[in-house]
Amino acid sequence: MKKIVAIVTMSVTCLALYAQTYSYEEVLSLERKVEGRKNSDWAMQQPYVIMLSIDGFRYDYAERYGATNIQSIIDSGVSTERMIPSFPSKTFPNHYAIVTGMYPGNNGLVSNEFYSREKDYWYNIRDKKAVTDASWYSGVPIWVLAEQHQMLSANFFWVGSEAPIEGIYSTYSYPYTSRVANEHRVDRIVEWLGFSERERPHLILGYFSLVDDAGHRYGPEHEKTKEAVLEIDRVIGKLLKGIESSGLPVNVVLVSDHGMANISRGIVLPEVLDLDDAKVAYSFPPMIYQPDSAKLEKLYNELLKVENIDVYKADAVPDYLMFENEDCIGDLVLISKAPTVILDKAKPVSGGTHGFNPFDHEEMGAIFYGSGPSFKEGVEISPFQNIHIYPLLAEILGLKYSHEIDGKSAVLGGILRK
Ligand code: AMP
Ligand code: ZN
Ligand code: ZN
Repeated sequence: MKKIVAIVTMSVTCLALYAQTYSYEEVLSLERKVEGRKNSDWAMQQPYVIMLSIDGFRYDYAERYGATNIQSIIDSGVSTERMIPSFPSKTFPNHYAIVTGMYPGNNGLVSNEFYSREKDYWYNIRDKKAVTDASWYSGVPIWVLAEQHQMLSANFFWVGSEAPIEGIYSTYSYPYTSRVANEHRVDRIVEWLGFSERERPHLILGYFSLVDDAGHRYGPEHEKTKEAVLEIDRVIGKLLKGIESSGLPVNVVLVSDHGMANISRGIVLPEVLDLDDAKVAYSFPPMIYQPDSAKLEKLYNELLKVENIDVYKADAVPDYLMFENEDCIGDLVLISKAPTVILDKAKPVSGGTHGFNPFDHEEMGAIFYGSGPSFKEGVEISPFQNIHIYPLLAEILGLKYSHEIDGKSAVLGGILRK
């Protein structure tokens, strides 16, 4: 009996701890600052960009749920009916595609979880050792490009910001934790705008997971997901007020990494085939690593017979998905279509998820809305892929680059005022 009471007390304490958010003072104490950096005279003449990501904000949420503050950004600036995520439509590959202009196969983050043959190590979004290790990240994130131009940047949780990529952190950044209230993130962003000209970041990145969390748990059309959308909309309203009172030429870019689809069926992988000693990355869509070619062939042939799973050998993933990376992509890539997901073990399947092929699932569609002095007003453009945002941000901020990326400046160049 005593044991049960102890377990219950422990669980309640854990739950309370999990739900607890930091006070604003505690939040500030988490901030990391790289000392000694100042904006150059040139950087101080450039405009400002605040790019916020609302994880899992599907392309139709703003209108569907009446998000009025977000709608005001759409009305006063540039929007697209749907931004197309990169494959796989997961959080880490897409956040990092947006800030590098490179497809996940080229930017290093091929999924939320994957194995590197070269390192003989797993990357996983919950493994701080991997997440903070710059050797996993290719390309030059936009905040690194800014800092290389002696333009300060600030980062509230963007994927990659905890690693010294190219040896550089944002001047102001935070270690990722879900315990910072969304409102506090925005309060700090507004404070950054109040810094002296030399110390004020010109590029600010922010991230919210609330809408994705609700979408997974309840599904995209649920009242609780609507509540999450409206809560983030409220917080964005606060940010817009803060920007207005700063009087600075600030551009706001709102993006999401992917959308959300209803799910209701699961295929339990170990129940439909004998995986033997293969390694499996289950982060949806799963990848199987099997270096023994005879065993691989056997798995492949068995998977061809499984209904509702499309299986591709690493070198035969359809070209248009641009999913190539010899070190990290599994020998087999398994794709299903919503409402079916592929699982590691039997569990109830409900609510929503993402990861599906973004080209045959409209529900994977994300958002792109940009407003501010650099953007044209009241323009809606055709769907485009998220890798094209990097050249756009570079152009707004006057940042030059010569390394190769996948994004093209011509795709979004026309949405800026000349
Ligand atoms: P998923 O829906 O599986 O693609 O992943 C979404 C989850 O990623 C969110 O619920 C966040 O908790 C987590 N996440 C987002 N950004 C970071 C980050 N920078 N570090 C660690 N976890 C993150
Ligand atoms: Zn996400
Ligand atoms: Zn998610």
